[in-house]
Amino acid sequence: MSAEQDAGLSVDVRELGGKPGTQEHLDRTVATPADFSAVLVGFREGGALHLDLRLESVHEGVLLTGTASAEVSGQCSRCLDAIGYSAAVDLMQLFTHPGREVDGEAEDEDERLIGEDLTIDLEPVLRDLMVSTLPFQPVCREDCPGLCSQCGFRMEDDPEHAHEQIDPRWAALADLADGLNDPEDASGERS
Ligand SMILES: [Zn+2]
Ligand SMILES: [Zn+2]
Repeated sequence: MSAEQDAGLSVDVRELGGKPGTQEHLDRTVATPADFSAVLVGFREGGALHLDLRLESVHEGVLLTGTASAEVSGQCSRCLDAIGYSAAVDLMQLFTHPGREVDGEAEDEDERLIGEDLTIDLEPVLRDLMVSTLPFQPVCREDCPGLCSQCGFRMEDDPEHAHEQIDPRWAALADLADGLNDPEDASGERS
């Protein structure tokens, strides 16, 4: 492992501090941390997470822009088959110097601070931004037919699969007819 890989998701911004206009390019591949996931799919823990980022020194701090790409794996929300694909997420995040509020505003939820040791911890930022791009209802393919709602059969195996279904209106008539034909049976077997 090179020194850069050992740095994981921490980025040293000492060189950028207080020099607006200065830029650095960060090209790094790290192991995807745990919990980069939603309910049915997630970025595979331990898989390659490739960062291609630009760090730019601005008046308020450091502006990070670029792309993070990694493998997503999980389950189709319709047929429950395993799915996997690679996803690239566009990132943009401003990290402010501690104690230097923008226009005197109170810290808001989205604000990220540069650490006292002049490093940025990318993990929480990447987690929020990347997880927000994961689909709530991932599908193995757009027209996945899913499972039969009555028995769980995989519809893909037989598109003709269906259950005998009597229109509820006809079912009511059939009940009525039964009752007329055999009134004494009404409280009997039919229940
Ligand atoms: Zn599916
Ligand atoms: Zn069925």
